[in-house]
Amino acid sequence: MKPQVNGDLCIGCGMCASMCPEVFIMSDDGKAEVIAGANYAAFADTIKEAVESCPTKAISA
Ligand code: SF4
Repeated sequence: MKPQVNGDLCIGCGMCASMCPEVFIMSDDGKAEVIAGANYAAFADTIKEAVESCPTKAISA
């Protein structure tokens, strides 16, 4: 399932993009974005870790 980043909560710390650069990228506005069409199933464990590590709980999956 495609994870979602809540842009209102994201503080742009970059942790998700560094933990799982195959799925998360930092956009020009400094917030995290989910890469469209990434293989979310293949990175499910790392996505879960990013969800749990996000300091503002901005990621849902
Ligand atoms: S870990 Fe959370 S706060 Fe940090 S960039 Fe990712 S979504 Fe934003």
